[in-house]
Amino acid sequence: MFFFFIIGTHFFTWGSEQTPREMRCGKCGTVAHFTLKKGMRFITLFFIIPIIPISGVKELAQCPTCGTRYQMTA
Ligand SMILES: [Zn+2]
Repeated sequence: MFFFFIIGTHFFTWGSEQTPREMRCGKCGTVAHFTLKKGMRFITLFFIIPIIPISGVKELAQCPTCGTRYQMTA
């Protein structure tokens, strides 16, 4: 038997809270409450199955207009 595995990495995000304050997007100029997300990079199997986390949890704010993500600095 021959097993073929495709190993890659993928950045997964989750969460849909709003930022308490309005932020300005540096890309499209929108001023709005951004979506707060947490994200983590995983080694994946077949592109979709996360197996091993290879980064810590990162806090991200996503622009509701263009979808650009900004990493939050604590
Ligand atoms: Zn934007």
